[in-house]
Amino acid sequence: MLAECLSRKLIIAGPCALESRQQLRSCCSLLQPLGITAIRASLWKPRTQPGWEGLGGESLELLLEETLPRGLAPATEILNAEHAKLIVAALEKYGADSKMLVWLGARNQNHLEQRAIAQILAAGPKNLTFMFKNQMWAEERHWIGIYEHILDAGYPRERLIACHRGFSPGMAPNPDNLRNLPDFEMAMRMKEKMKIPMVLDPSHIGGSRENVRKIMQEAQKYAFDGYLIEVHEQPEQARTDTKQQLSVEEFQELLRMINGEVK
Ligand code: PEP
Ligand code: MN
Repeated sequence: MLAECLSRKLIIAGPCALESRQQLRSCCSLLQPLGITAIRASLWKPRTQPGWEGLGGESLELLLEETLPRGLAPATEILNAEHAKLIVAALEKYGADSKMLVWLGARNQNHLEQRAIAQILAAGPKNLTFMFKNQMWAEERHWIGIYEHILDAGYPRERLIACHRGFSPGMAPNPDNLRNLPDFEMAMRMKEKMKIPMVLDPSHIGGSRENVRKIMQEAQKYAFDGYLIEVHEQPEQARTDTKQQLSVEEFQELLRMINGEVK
């Protein structure tokens, strides 16, 4: 997975949440012909207010079955060490070369849990990649601290990716009504300091389809190594993040932008 990041942009695309086998299957069959090899479909959803929390660990097997045998790498957020254990154990069946990406979300800022997760993933297959997003509040020292905890817990830097998903707007001016405010310059400084690939999540920055496109346009001026983009076959039917998930056609437009074919 990291090798791909270095030779060309790593694109992780797919629904915010795994909703059903049918949803994942059709998403894979639409995205794979576009050259996408990493499919996001989260099993566990942190929620700001009580609501649907995702299909959970019971659907981990479904996620792996619908992706790995097709040569696709599944990608999901994990919330705790128990989730990390479930994933490492489930991957055993698929062999030492199985590819998967798991990430730590912006709200998951208990360093003890971060370290426990890092330790468990370090013992997983070599193509199991760990990505960590920035925390909710804009502070360089905290973001780099997550990176330090992960490495200090014994996770290898060669299998680590950072992701910028913007910071909580709070009272800051926000004329475009973004869901989270990006700091592209900080992301580039972090990439330089941490010496690992830096992916951008325009979906959780934008918060709406139109904003996702605008953020991607702006991001083209910076050296991001890849993108994490929410795509849903029927965005208006999505169970989470309905406003920001792109249709496959809208996503194709972004791919043309990334490839420099349109502005
Ligand atoms: C997500 O990627 O679906 C997600 C919940 O992201 P974040 O941690 O950036 O809010
Ligand atoms: Mn989401």
